[in-house]
Amino acid sequence: MEFKPVTAEILEQLSAAAPGRVFSGGDISADYSHDEMPIYGERMPEAVVQTLTTEEVAAVCKICYDDDIPIVPRGTGTGLCGGCVADQGGVIIDTSKMDKILGYDKDNFTVRVQAGVLLDTLAADCLAQGMLYPPDPGERFATVGGNVATNAGGMRAVKYGATRDYVRAMTVVLPSGEIIRLGGEVNKTSSGYSLIHLMAGSEGTLGIITELSMKLLPLPKQTVSLLGLFPDLDSAISCVPQVKLAGLDPQALEFMSRANVAEIQEFLGKEVYPAKCDGEDVGAYLLTTFEGAKPELMDEIMEQAAEVFLENGALDVLVFDTPEAIRTAWSFRGAALEAIQAKFQLIDECDVVVPIPNIPELVNYANSLEGEVGLAIRTSGHAGDGNVHMNVCANDMDKGEFLAKAEKFMELVYAKGWELGGLCSGEHGIGRAKVPYLAQFEGGVIMELMRGIKKVFDPKGLLNPGKVCG
Ligand SMILES: Cc1cc2nc3c(=O)[nH]c(=O)nc-3n(C[C@H](O)[C@H](O)[C@H](O)COP(=O)(O)OP(=O)(O)OC[C@H]3O[C@@H](n4cnc5c(N)ncnc54)[C@H](O)[C@@H]3O)c2cc1C
Repeated sequence: MEFKPVTAEILEQLSAAAPGRVFSGGDISADYSHDEMPIYGERMPEAVVQTLTTEEVAAVCKICYDDDIPIVPRGTGTGLCGGCVADQGGVIIDTSKMDKILGYDKDNFTVRVQAGVLLDTLAADCLAQGMLYPPDPGERFATVGGNVATNAGGMRAVKYGATRDYVRAMTVVLPSGEIIRLGGEVNKTSSGYSLIHLMAGSEGTLGIITELSMKLLPLPKQTVSLLGLFPDLDSAISCVPQVKLAGLDPQALEFMSRANVAEIQEFLGKEVYPAKCDGEDVGAYLLTTFEGAKPELMDEIMEQAAEVFLENGALDVLVFDTPEAIRTAWSFRGAALEAIQAKFQLIDECDVVVPIPNIPELVNYANSLEGEVGLAIRTSGHAGDGNVHMNVCANDMDKGEFLAKAEKFMELVYAKGWELGGLCSGEHGIGRAKVPYLAQFEGGVIMELMRGIKKVFDPKGLLNPGKVCG
């Protein structure tokens, strides 16, 4: 399909559909040319439409579809694989102004939202209502629609699962402009193919999500966080399966190397995780949170968890047991990516997911490649669910040289991930950047099935072209 340009006439039609909220040429903010990983390529869209309702999204899609113009859905652009970039031109539909919480059904434990509501807003509002919105990806200023579109995971996925597991119903605009509603306010379904699960994680390639009904849970009564201080990454990572095998059911379980922590410390200007323990250097950290129904159970959980840490090589274990202390410990961890971004000019990343017992092998392998590829390597991530975030970084290097070295790293590390029974992305998605690697993991037959599905939803291939299955 040959895409058509956005003409003055199309701009007029778009303006009639979303009056005062259509931007073109020099009026488009440069933010729309990239997501949080500009390394994957930047391009300005021909137009941006900030929509407010499902009907406006449908009208914009119809105009573009009838005129063979690419359509790219966007939340707040916090993605990490170039997914919301209009790299083949066309119109970006910015859903971030569709930010209303539409209502709670407390008897049914659900909340209805517009897709552009921020995760931060929704999580805080649910707390104020005495309920938990369990998905907790690290970037709080992403939209919930973007979280569903990428099936975002985050810190609490180890216990609660990823965003997809919380979608009860959704309103979707197909690229042709047709509006459909998937799922329902029910607890389970066995009603044909699960299109709602297909839409979650489809990264804006099958339809544009405009409204969502999300499942909530009762608030956990008590929580406590523990920080294990380990001499090296190997011992920290080897402890991860042991915490799970002990039946401790952590709500979150993250690992960080000393290099990560030193960078966060420099970035935030404060030390939260100690560099030394009784004179010995700390090489790596495990941060974990546990929940309990009663205060008296918490001591038992803490003791048991500390015992597992110490038996598996921890030098010491720190306890954070007040809401303020827990927040401080976790916001420090939450600054990991920003700290890397502040220190390095050139960054590439991947988030391979492997079976939990294989985490140490993948992490050690990735770290061992530093000399071979000639780039700084930072590994951290959601250790409890096998999702390892690997960043390769450099300063003062020609971009072409960096990309060649980063590609070598990616080839090696994806091959290792595959050998260890892993999958291409645990939570960040495929976007544009990971398309060739997805094909390597999945093989030709599965890629053809994916392309077949894409064709059914989007026969003209206009919605977010080139992403996920290419
Ligand atoms: C500091 C930092 C920490 C992060 N931590 C995590 C983490 O812990 N876990 C995790 O999973 N991710 C994490 N991310 C990645 C990112 O926040 C998520 O991918 C998030 O879900 C993207 O949401 P967004 O609104 O920014 O979407 P965008 O970046 O705007 O878009 C992402 C993709 O979703 C599509 N899309 C967006 N909105 C819609 C819609 N309404 N309908 C259809 N398609 C749509 C886009 O086309 C694109 O393909 C992190 C990012 C940063 C910068």
